[in-house]
This record gives sequence, C-alpha cells and structure tokens, in this order.
Amino acid sequence: MVLRLATWNTKQGVAPRKKTPQLWEWLHSRVDPDVAVLTEAKIPNGFSPTGWQTVYRPGGIGPRRQWGTIHASRGPQLVEVSSVRVGGRAIELEFEWPAAVVVTDVIRDRQRWATLVGIYGITLNRHGESCGHGRYSVPLLLKQLAPLFESDRADRIIVAGDFNMWPCDVPSEFNTLGLVDLIADTAHTRPALARCSGCNLGLDCGHLWTHRNGTSPNAAVQQIDYIFASSELRSEVSRVYGGVGDFPEAWEVSDHAPVVAEFF
Ligand SMILES: [Zn+2]
Repeated sequence: MVLRLATWNTKQGVAPRKKTPQLWEWLHSRVDPDVAVLTEAKIPNGFSPTGWQTVYRPGGIGPRRQWGTIHASRGPQLVEVSSVRVGGRAIELEFEWPAAVVVTDVIRDRQRWATLVGIYGITLNRHGESCGHGRYSVPLLLKQLAPLFESDRADRIIVAGDFNMWPCDVPSEFNTLGLVDLIADTAHTRPALARCSGCNLGLDCGHLWTHRNGTSPNAAVQQIDYIFASSELRSEVSRVYGGVGDFPEAWEVSDHAPVVAEFF
C-alpha cells in the first residue's frame, strides 16, 4: 500500500487566499495525501476537518503569529512525540518556537512506520528580528532535534516543511543527521526548473517551484519546501513530485505549491 506524504504551506499567516474549509477541500481532493505537514497553518475555532486526525499546538507560535505547523492524517495514526529516550534517559524535546515544529510517530499496521518532523523555518534572526529567510531558525531547530536523532527512532525519520531557504542554503546538518533530500535525490526524474533560484544542482537541476514570491510575472522561481528522509525510508520512495508544475492551480489556493513523496 502506497503511503502518500505531502508538505504544503497553506498561507494562513498573512492574507490567506482561501478560507480554511476550501484549503482542506483542496488538500483532500487535489493533493490527496495520507499524511500531511501543513505550515503557516491554523485551524480556527469551530472548524474541524472531517476525516482527518490533526496534531498541532493551538494558539500557534505566539500572539503575533497565531499559526504554526500541523500534522494531519487520514489513515495512519499520529502519536505526538514530546520526549525521547537516549541511553536509557528520557529527554524532553524543546524548541525555540514550539508551534513551528511538530513531531509525531506515524503508526501503520500497529507499528511505527516513521517519526515525522514538520518544520516551519520561521524568518527570524538570532536577535528575533524579521530577516526573510529560515537560515538561522532551521539549523537551530535541527540542533534542538538532536536527541531524536540519538534515540531509537533515528532509523526512520522524515523531516518536511517550508524551510524558507533555497537549495544552496540548506545546511549540511541534514547530511550529518543521515537525512537525504528526496527532491534532489529524484531530480534526474524531472526536467531542470527554468530560472531556478539558488540552485545547487547545475545541469542536474530537477527542483520544484514551490513558492511564488509575489504576483509579478518576474517573481522568483524558487523551491523553499522540502522533504528529507533517513536512508532506510529513502529506499522505499517510489515517486516524488509537486510544485506548481504538478499543481498548476496552486497559486490560486496559496502562495505555495505542495511537495509530495510516495512510499511503497
Ligand atoms: Zn535547481
């Protein structure tokens, strides 16, 4: 049975393009994932996405950012992971911006299929000032995830989300943690992305246009959303796709297009 995993920024932080029920309807009918990581996402009071189990921190990142990362599943059970065992000792997972990171075990056939980490690369620098990219926040959040990678869950981990950075800026820590970029890993299955911003693959580019940076026809063509997986899960990937190329109407729904990985 294929498991389809998607990550998508629903743009509910600033000037949403669609109301929450329409976002979920599009996710459901068009992206059709079994499990999804939603970023810049929120579930307003009084709305409950029918048929989905969700895990997130109500209230979001803070008073100025009442949105965050949401895990959603229509099939496998999600069990939130708030602490892990390292060397027989329980360690709490603690994050600088708690609602930006969600960690769950994805349970399939009564077993942990993977531990899923959803990350939003909040665009703040070390002084808490807005900086327009996730190049400070993502490495910090990865550092705070270190106990997870030292725990017995390390063999099967997926990290997905909107990192707010170009491929050339993705920190080497992902490699160090044994994670493989599934888009780069399958780039040979796709044509090069024309005008790809911050490309690090040269002629082998097969990036996905996942974020429309403004509405100008000259808006930067950029991939800032990613799915990484540990090597055992990487060997179970059957297909990776997404971006506006595979979801041509995505800009009507959000300023991001989803990234999807299918596992057999
Ligand atoms: Zn590229």
